[in-house]
Amino acid sequence: MQQILSYPIGIPGQPWGDAERAAWRSRQLRQRSHADDVVTRVDALRDRFDIETYATLDAGGRSYPLLAIRSRDWNPDLPIGVVTGGVHGYETSGIEGALAFVEQCAAGYAGRINLLVVPCVSPWGYEHVQRWNVDAIDPNRSFRAGSPAQESAALVALLAPLRDSVLVHVDLHETTDTDESEFRPALAARDGMPFEPGGIPDGFYLVDDSEHPQPAFQQAVIAAVERVTHIAPADADGGMIGSPVVAHGVIEYPLERLGLCAGITGARYVTTTEVYPDSPRTTPAQCNAAQVASIVAALDYALAHR
Ligand SMILES: [Zn+2]
Repeated sequence: MQQILSYPIGIPGQPWGDAERAAWRSRQLRQRSHADDVVTRVDALRDRFDIETYATLDAGGRSYPLLAIRSRDWNPDLPIGVVTGGVHGYETSGIEGALAFVEQCAAGYAGRINLLVVPCVSPWGYEHVQRWNVDAIDPNRSFRAGSPAQESAALVALLAPLRDSVLVHVDLHETTDTDESEFRPALAARDGMPFEPGGIPDGFYLVDDSEHPQPAFQQAVIAAVERVTHIAPADADGGMIGSPVVAHGVIEYPLERLGLCAGITGARYVTTTEVYPDSPRTTPAQCNAAQVASIVAALDYALAHR
């Protein structure tokens, strides 16, 4: 029997209008502080890194600084590495992993690569533990010129001058149980589509660019993460979340065509990490460590294979 699941907003089969988006927004609760959790940690890096407020996000009656951390003594003769976290604000290990990488590891790359780290692309989503922004738009389908998502437009503008000069870009994400219980049903309801239940992969995986795959690079990242937490197996059909598993722990999307963050820079080496924080076999600390291990492995592979 087909499972009938309805979302509490809107009429099944009809895309949302302004009233439904407003009803959705009224249900979102502010649960944590970007200023306390992110801005404070970034401020503590000011003696060692250059901190830039690349835009201000106005959302839900609050203003949020959008912060980028750059290597001090940026050297135009060196390659560039970009790290982005918190494109989906609820995916906590992406934000904490990006900050932990800068705090613990970034100094070790001085003189080898210029680093640009944006730890929290979507502060409103961070505070509200939400996938979408305040306008019920998924920032990670919106990284294109003229984007309706402020968060995405601001990051595109920040990275535009670096387009085609970035060597490696790591975009930090999670796949969570709430994707299946809340965010996918909300997406189906918003767009007036039926919700098709699926599965959540049990473990870490990566998304490569189907248009420019780098399989050896992806496996270098998987090998590093496997020392920290378990890698998701393929399902009975040889896939994960509807895509074929092309190698151990790796699926592919056409990043740029879908407006995904990892498609912005045009870097030779790009990957999207997907940590699974809801497994009984992992901890928040291991999830953060998996993100840091991904960044380090990606940078090291890229520098060794320029
Ligand atoms: Zn995500």
